[in-house]
Amino acid sequence: MAAKSSKHQITLIPGDGIGPEVVAAVQAVLAAAEVPIEWEERHAGASVFKKGVASGVLPETIESIRRTKCALKGPLETPVGFGEKSANVTLRKYFETYGNIRPVRELPGIRTPYSGRGIDFVVVRENVEDLYAGIEYLQTPGVAQALKIVTRKGSEKICRLAFEIARAEGRKKVTCATKANILKFTEGLFKRVFEEVSKDYPEIAHDHQIVDNCAHQMVMRPEQFDVLVMTNMNGDILSDLASALIGGLGFAPSANLGDGASIFEAVHGSAPQIAGKDMANPTALLHSSVLMLRHLGEMKKADAIENSLLVTLEDGNILTADMAGGGREPSGTKAFTKELIKNLGAAPKSYPRREYKKVRMPEISHDAVSVKAKETRPMGVDIFVATAIDPGVLGPAVEKLIGDLPLRLAQISNRGTKVYPNDLGIESDPVDCARLRFKVNNHGDTLTDKDIAELLLRVGTQAPWVHVEKLFKYDGQAAFTKDQGED
Ligand code: NAP
Repeated sequence: MAAKSSKHQITLIPGDGIGPEVVAAVQAVLAAAEVPIEWEERHAGASVFKKGVASGVLPETIESIRRTKCALKGPLETPVGFGEKSANVTLRKYFETYGNIRPVRELPGIRTPYSGRGIDFVVVRENVEDLYAGIEYLQTPGVAQALKIVTRKGSEKICRLAFEIARAEGRKKVTCATKANILKFTEGLFKRVFEEVSKDYPEIAHDHQIVDNCAHQMVMRPEQFDVLVMTNMNGDILSDLASALIGGLGFAPSANLGDGASIFEAVHGSAPQIAGKDMANPTALLHSSVLMLRHLGEMKKADAIENSLLVTLEDGNILTADMAGGGREPSGTKAFTKELIKNLGAAPKSYPRREYKKVRMPEISHDAVSVKAKETRPMGVDIFVATAIDPGVLGPAVEKLIGDLPLRLAQISNRGTKVYPNDLGIESDPVDCARLRFKVNNHGDTLTDKDIAELLLRVGTQAPWVHVEKLFKYDGQAAFTKDQGED
């Protein structure tokens, strides 16, 4: 039987546009640094969409990543007209790579308005939940709805990962940025879990910022951040903002970490305009490969490659077109790669050194139930109806239909604002989707599914229902938010 290779098996996806060029550059540098890797080349992206595979990812690519547990990926194009899904999103979802990690560190020789301020932080973004679960509906042809899903389990995983990264990199503080002031249940859950998790990391400071202020702080005083953790969409937006502080997307590396497999990639896309012209800058993918090597525990090799990159940028003798400027002649991808290889073994003169340890991935129960309520009490039901009937007419008509059911119509709202009874005289500009909120008559009543089914039939005689949500109290706490104007 053949002996098991001592080399790391890594799935390599060259990708589209400039992908194969930047991937070849990274392979050449890693080979010159004698990193023990055996690449397994597999495909995803444009070429796969063109074969009619709607996910953009071949089954053998999935199989390879499942086996190697680690992939380095070039950018993937989502061609318009072939398939609906992004191949990138397919890969992230397939392997539940829940942690998107984006280091943001000032680079030597890359001039930005922030140069010299010592920007050095890590954005940790939840990568699979939130609005990006992609569950959307048109409730009426003119009213769209998306579900924002935030779970205790998902929040705990990403918050622990943020603290583990802080520990591994000797960082002092983790900042959680949320919109918990408005979104009490979703963003609020994330903030509460963050605060709970922080107790297990007493040596690391923690604080919270409202995410809009965080965006403002990031532009005004980015040096205050050390590690930042956010839900998916907030993290998506702020991590791109953060990249701009250090030179732009072309310099931004990323890791997508999961319990099974992890995928490392540059943040930029396939830049088709410069593809095949020996113009692409491989910095972001090379830096992503450094993150990959640290994930694999190859700390010395990672430092050597990072140092060669820093020295090459610091010297500024050979730079690709996007970096050269101020009268310097631009060089090609190949010349830049040769320079990186030449600089292996050198150390940057003026760049503060950071000690990295391998990040310990959080171990969290995969049990689907992460919180159990001792008592669950039905409080009522929200029925969304597609109607443009004036609430002053609809309300009394619906009240007449309730009859013997153990419920009362508490109110009607339109886009979250109470419009019936309109005792506060709220002015609104209604749309053709209203929410009827029914509450149980008194606390002793128990509401059954049969009651709700009967209510739906009765309401349906006035207006077609499109969506139903039960209202509960878990252990005495209301599990639904109030409308604007609701008591
Ligand atoms: P992009 O590919 O990032 O390119 C935008 C511009 O940034 C390029 O035209 C180029 O500017 C510059 N650029 C980006 N990376 C560079 C590099 N390594 N070296 C030098 N310059 C670089 O964004 P896009 O044009 O919006 O997207 C193109 C395709 O990529 C789309 O199909 C998109 O879906 C896909 N995409 C994939 C990923 C991914 O796989 N993770 C991410 C983003 C986008 P100049 O034109 O000035 O040279």
